[in-house]
This record gives sequence, C-alpha cells and structure tokens, in this order.
Amino acid sequence: MAVIVSCLAGCNTLRDSTKTDKEPTAPLLAGPSKYHLRDSQFVYYSDFPINSNLPIFKELSDLREQIVTELQLPASNTIIQVFLFEDQAKYEAFMRTRHPELPVRRAFFIKQPKNNGGTADLLVYTWWGEKIRQDLRHELTHGILHSVLKDVPLWLDEGLAEVYELPPENNGVNTTHVEAIRKGSFHPDLAKLEQLSEVKQMLTPEYREAWAWAHFLLRGKPEAKAALLSYLQTLRQSATPTPLLMPELRKTFPAPNDAMATHFSRVESPKASRLVSNYR
Ligand SMILES: [Zn+2]
Repeated sequence: MAVIVSCLAGCNTLRDSTKTDKEPTAPLLAGPSKYHLRDSQFVYYSDFPINSNLPIFKELSDLREQIVTELQLPASNTIIQVFLFEDQAKYEAFMRTRHPELPVRRAFFIKQPKNNGGTADLLVYTWWGEKIRQDLRHELTHGILHSVLKDVPLWLDEGLAEVYELPPENNGVNTTHVEAIRKGSFHPDLAKLEQLSEVKQMLTPEYREAWAWAHFLLRGKPEAKAALLSYLQTLRQSATPTPLLMPELRKTFPAPNDAMATHFSRVESPKASRLVSNYR
C-alpha cells in the first residue's frame, strides 16, 4: 500500500480521507535504528542483525534494475529508507502511534514531503515475517516509482506493485488473480479505476483489476507496452491534474476494456506456488 502523507504529525493523507483530529495519545515510538545496511537505492534499518548476504538483498537490487529497464525510467539515487521490525507486534505498535490514521496492513510505503519543500522522504515499514520477500518487492516497487515519477496514479501504483511483488519465475502472473478473472465475473473498467484516489477505495477486486491492467500493459501487445511507456514519461513531467491513460489507449485499442479481457484468455498460469495477495 502506498500513502502520501501531507504533514508530519496528526496527519491526514492525500490518498486516505480518514482524518484524525486527535494527536496520538501513546508516546511516539522510535523506528528500528540499531543496524543499517546500504544496498543499491535502499537503506535497511533494523534492531536485529541481518545477514547482508541473504539472497533477498541481491534480488531487490535486481528488481530495481528490472523496473527501470523495463519501464524505461532513469535510475534515481534518492534513498528509500526501509524500516524492518523484528516482529508484527513491534511493527503494529509503531504504526499505531506514528500513523493512527492508517488501516492495519502488513507493510506500508509512505511518501512524506518535507516541510521545507525539499525532496520527500521515501519510507517503507514492515516486519520480518514469512511474507517479507513479497512485501519488500511490493513496497520497494512503490518506492522506486515514486523516486522518479512526479505522480503515480493509485491504480497504476498498486497494479505495478502487484506485478513486481511476484517471484521472478512467475513473470508477473498471479495465479489467484487469473483464476478469479476466468470465473467470469470480471468486468474491467479502466475509466472507473482511474477515478479512484483513496486507499480505502482499493479492496481485493480493485487490486485484482489494477494488477490485470498492469499485466496487460507490460506483457500484452507491443502497442499496449508503448502506451504505458509513453504514459510513464508524461507522469515524470506533470503532477496535477493527473493525466489519464484511457484516452491514450483508445487511440490504439477501440475498446481497451475488451482488449484487456481478451489478453487473459491467452495468459498461462505459472506452476509456481500460489500467492494470496491481500492488499498493501
Ligand atoms: Zn501497495
């Protein structure tokens, strides 16, 4: 889940209208800081020792290379700070005091603009559990996108994160999503999806559709990929109002929603293990 925080304390968010007028009553807890590990664009902080030779760190560095290459984006040097909590309880206690306005989720990416207007802080919070690989791939995808794009529409932000959170051998195919789509109750509507601007509007069907659009744009016909790449270049330049993709897609695909649904009649599910994607 990606959130843009508009102030430092007692925050509301641009993407979540759940406002709180109350200051947190519990004392603010500090994030992990005892150990840190710099790798690629990322600095990982923890209060427990982490073996820097674990394959996950190379994989995340490779993920950054894959994303900037595949999406034809410049590689940013803006640091993404990753706070790794030792367990779920410590993570949730921290999030409750620091971000009481946010729903309980396994992991968050937070873009926190500076009060002086300088480069925003890019922050990832999660805990070291069995889903750490998937969660870091997901949240760091948000971080990489936000480090180079002025604006990332919510649907595209979550759709690309859902694609890149999958292990490389899946090639972006989420078996659970594919099966749900093929059961027949799938009615994609990109124009509607593009209107969503708050995280609370994104539930499983919206995440599934966002993933499906991202997969169609990345792995479908070359014309779809070309439209995505052109759109991403637009997003590097302009922030408000957020440009829309649907009008651009219509220039190539007379009925983009139908073209996307057709794409999934040809997608092969990987043999890789099934991933249950609960929204982040
Ligand atoms: Zn997300």
